[in-house]
Amino acid sequence: MELACLDLEGVLIPEIWIAFAEKTGIEELKATTRDIPDYDVLMQQRLRLLDEHGYGLPEIQEVISTLDPLEGAREFLDWLRERFQVVILSDTFYEFAMPLMAKLGHPALLCHKLEVNEQGRITNYLLRQRDPKRQSVRAFQLLNYRVIATGDSYNDTTMLTQAEAGILFHAPDNVIAEFPQFPAVHNYDDLREEFLKASERF
Ligand SMILES: [Mg+2]
Repeated sequence: MELACLDLEGVLIPEIWIAFAEKTGIEELKATTRDIPDYDVLMQQRLRLLDEHGYGLPEIQEVISTLDPLEGAREFLDWLRERFQVVILSDTFYEFAMPLMAKLGHPALLCHKLEVNEQGRITNYLLRQRDPKRQSVRAFQLLNYRVIATGDSYNDTTMLTQAEAGILFHAPDNVIAEFPQFPAVHNYDDLREEFLKASERF
């Protein structure tokens, strides 16, 4: 039995924080773990900026609902779901991803969660576990699934390594150079091919 595990941001949808920063004009929200390597410090800064600009969860979801999946993403995902069981493994939060998941037909999603008070203010965030993508793949393997995984960035590489087959999609050059063991493709047609190839190898 085969399971396809997909990263979300950069693979099916745009980077949510960056797209949100562009929609709202809050430049500092474009900071990523490349600028602030400590994820906790980065998240505290993001939550503070949201507070300062008066964005609670309802306003954020309203902005996110104006975003769209990447071009061709829905068709690719539908194609994949006809051939594999598909689970999306993401480091985003359910509350942010939901408007976009609706546009993808609500596939299974494992990610993190926000704490929101009655006024809609985001008060905290809950990470599901450490190294969640790799741990998820491990768990599926214990259920006797063989996993084909794809992602675009550093936070996907432990998942790609753990999987029986890993594919880089839309990855920047430095990630491709550092992980030459994974095939690297840049459009959905080639990604379909790589999934079929990996599946034939099993
Ligand atoms: Mg990504």
